[in-house]
This record gives sequence, structure tokens and C-alpha cells, in this order.
Amino acid sequence: NVRRCRIAPRMAAEAATEQAPSSSETFEFQAEVSRVMHLIINSLYSNKEVFLRELVSNASDACDKKRFLSLSSGSESGAPAIYLKADKEAGVITVEDSGVGMTRQELITNLGSIATSGTSKFLDALGDNGSGDMSLIGQFGVGFYSAYLVADSVSVISKSYTDPNAKQYRWESSAENSFTISEDDSEPIKGGSGTRIVLHIKDGCKEFLENFRLVELMKRYSEFIQFPVFGWESRT
Ligand code: ADP
Ligand code: MG
Repeated sequence: NVRRCRIAPRMAAEAATEQAPSSSETFEFQAEVSRVMHLIINSLYSNKEVFLRELVSNASDACDKKRFLSLSSGSESGAPAIYLKADKEAGVITVEDSGVGMTRQELITNLGSIATSGTSKFLDALGDNGSGDMSLIGQFGVGFYSAYLVADSVSVISKSYTDPNAKQYRWESSAENSFTISEDDSEPIKGGSGTRIVLHIKDGCKEFLENFRLVELMKRYSEFIQFPVFGWESRT
């Protein structure tokens, strides 16, 4: 699933100088991303639970890529896995994978822009008022943004496997039109590379903070994932 013709997001110079700390840079989403997010947030709230399937499927893709790269380079990198946590007190769901991860530039490109053809097909399939089938979201290369069905703010912490000198970076956005990128000094990703997605759950979606709900969704939508999915207690 190769994505072409990505347009690099343009830096929002004003926002960067006005409010962001010097270590954090602000970028504007490509216009299509903003449109997709707007649709997801405002029109497609009837099938919120697909967020977990989409994030776990991205985690699985990332594990697959790492497995492939380590096989072809002959280097041992440990078996990739996926870890899930719902923290009711903090109001946060975390999905972490020890997959291929993303460099700083990949965070900017992969989570700030989308292949235009995929986007217009997605928007066509949904219809103008977003009455289409939300379960199709993953087929259009926009699955990541389904995180905003349940979260009002999302942090993506990632460390790349492909660049051995890569630092751990943090992508953050509350949707709208922009995201920030900064170096991250929170807990290192388990397994040396991979991605941790932290969802700050919206009011009205608190039901997903129950562990049994996550387990139920995993059983329903992610039955055929090829990598082990563990609870957070197995991560330490
Ligand atoms: P798709 O999975 O169809 O490409 P998504 O919107 O789900 O579309 O994800 C967009 C891109 O972001 C992916 O193609 C991938 O490059 C990157 N990405 C998302 N989640 C992860 C992850 N957990 N690890 C590595 N890269 C990821
Ligand atoms: Mg996806």
C-alpha cells in the first residue's frame, strides 16, 4: 500500500513564533486532511468504535514492516508486539507497537498529508453529508484520523527503526488545522523502535476507558492480527 504524491505541509510560521515553545514546531495540515478530520468529527459519530481497529491495523502494519526489514538485513530485533491500555483516571487510551516507527519527517508527512486520490474517493464514498459507511474508512488511507472519533487530542510518540540515530519524537494535534512536532523525552518505546498513540478521550466516549470494552472490540474487529496484543501489565 504505497502512498504517492504527498504534499509536504507548510509550516505555520505565525503559530510557531507566537505560542509554541522553541523546541516545538507547528505545522498546518494539508487541506484534504482538515476536510477529512472535519467530516470524521462532525458527521460520522455513529460508528466510533472503528478507531481501535484502525489503530491496531496500523500497529500491525508497522510490526510487519519491521519484521520484514530485520529479516532482509539479517539483524535480530526481537519479536514485535502491540500493547493496549485504558487509564480511566487519566481519561487516556494508549496503543503502542514495537514496529518500524516513524522518523520526524515521516511523522510530518504520513500524519499531516494524504494521497489526494484516496481522499477524494473517501469523500465521494461518504457523500456530501457524510451519510456513507464509516466502516470503509480504513480502505481510503485515512484510518489514523478515526482516532478523532473518540479523542479530542492525540499524541503520537515514535522512534524509527530505519534510522539508527533517530531520536524519539512527538506529534500532537487537537485536530483543527495544525499539529506540533517536538523531541520527546517521555518513556522510551518498548523494543527500541515503534509508535505509541495516546488518545485523550472525549466526554461522551468514556465507555471506551473500560478494559472489557477494548477487549470486546479487539475480539470483534481485530481477530486476525498476526502479532501478539498484550495488556499494559505485560509491557514492563
Ligand atoms: P493507511 O494505513 O491506509 O496508510 P492511515 O491513515 O491509517 O492510512 O495511516 C497513515 C500512515 O501513517 C500510514 O501509511 C503509516 O505510514 C503511518 N502510520 C500510522 N500509524 C503508524 C504506526 N503505528 N507506526 C508506523 N507508521 C504509522
Ligand atoms: Mg491504516
